[in-house]
Amino acid sequence: MAKKVRDLRSALELLAELPGQLLETDVEVEPMAQLSGVYRYVGAGGTVKRPTKEGPAMIFHNVKGHPGASVAIGVLASRKRVAALLDCKPEELGKMLCRSVEKPVLPVMCQGDPACQQVVHRADEPDFDLYKLVPAPTNTPYDAGPYITLGMCYAAHPDTGAHDVTIHRLCIQGKDELSIFFTPGARHIGAMAERAEQLGRRLPISISIGVDPAIEIGSCFEPPTTPLGYDELSVAGALRGEPVELCRCLTVDELAIANAEYVIEGEVIPNVRIKEDQNSHTGFAMPEFPGYTGPASDQCWLIKVKAVTHRVNPIMQTCIGPSEEHVSMAGIPTEASIYGMVEKAMPGRLQNVYCCSAGGGKYMAVLQFKKSVASDEGRQRQAALLAFSAFSELKHIFLVDEDVDCFDMNDVLWAMNTRFQGDVDTITIPGVRCHPLDPSNDPDFSPSIRDHGIACKTIFDCTVPFDQKDRFVRARFMELDPSQWVKQGNEGKNS
Ligand code: MN
Repeated sequence: MAKKVRDLRSALELLAELPGQLLETDVEVEPMAQLSGVYRYVGAGGTVKRPTKEGPAMIFHNVKGHPGASVAIGVLASRKRVAALLDCKPEELGKMLCRSVEKPVLPVMCQGDPACQQVVHRADEPDFDLYKLVPAPTNTPYDAGPYITLGMCYAAHPDTGAHDVTIHRLCIQGKDELSIFFTPGARHIGAMAERAEQLGRRLPISISIGVDPAIEIGSCFEPPTTPLGYDELSVAGALRGEPVELCRCLTVDELAIANAEYVIEGEVIPNVRIKEDQNSHTGFAMPEFPGYTGPASDQCWLIKVKAVTHRVNPIMQTCIGPSEEHVSMAGIPTEASIYGMVEKAMPGRLQNVYCCSAGGGKYMAVLQFKKSVASDEGRQRQAALLAFSAFSELKHIFLVDEDVDCFDMNDVLWAMNTRFQGDVDTITIPGVRCHPLDPSNDPDFSPSIRDHGIACKTIFDCTVPFDQKDRFVRARFMELDPSQWVKQGNEGKNS
């Protein structure tokens, strides 16, 4: 039985026990561009420009300008690691998450003093300075500023009081100011800020950093799977079989994650929009999951910070936007959403689903579909349409049969080479809203595109027509147990 993970520290302890999953260094590192520059080589993977690779998570214990604090990066930058942290097989993660969403366990208030408030800094103290208090890395020399990339933003709807947790990109803009980017018309905390603005009010918000990975994964669910009013902290509660514990913020009327490493307390200010790169004037925000450095927004909302609280010797947690970490956090909830929707519509056909690294977890999904009777022919394409509904930002869907490993992109491309004809098996759906960060979704790219963010969704049907299955049987080898031929030590615990 694996060690129980309940916060970032216990997660790191578990990783330290697994071979090759955690690297720690005491060599001094500069948070400005250097830290992410190192991790690009060590373990970023994902859509990062090569050379990069999947590797261990890393902890920097000696961060220039931040004595007493450490920075952890890449904790979730491997599906295998996520599986270990959630005590699940890598290929079962999507299905397990789907079950957790259906049985939410609501958060509760913690008893006693919350760990995240061991040290308290209030913004009305004269030496209060976010730049010094929070070791937020500037990921590249071109970033708008220091970014909090893994802040669990938690707020309540002004009308209903219903909570939502979402990760937004947060850039330090001043000693007590953060910018927060809301994707227009998409995310729930953005809707709460808009409603508060209509009412002429500030929206209290807490930003918890350095938490149980179950919270980080659960917080990445989006509608329709978790509609407005669904507190995604209850996904983590379901995953762990015990509720997430909250504490009351000290300076704003909001709650925070009690065992976080850091909590930033603040208020989203109505009727103020700021330029994300107002200090650096680089024109860029930070590296985003599609693999490009995104443009700075001139429509960021402003958070006025009231306090920073943290543990003694806190561990800042961060990620590289285009790394495998994003694939885990965005992709696995997307797999769960697709699986849930297709399973509801046509039970038993969808064997599994994988939101692969090449799509950053959001642009591409592989659906492993089993046709059992003649009337299942065509349903695989219906399943792809449902997947587009389950996650509206998906762009490309590959359909494969049950004898193809949907997690092995070589096997998927094999299916494309032997079970796919471009003229009849490519289904295009033009003029559909896709993801704004895809630079090819733009009128400059193709005259067929009316406006930025509108694009063509495509289904690549690499399944064999049901009536032809006999002609597509893969080479059959003798079934046996190979263990006696495999030298001990070469193949895990086999003997
Ligand atoms: Mn939500």
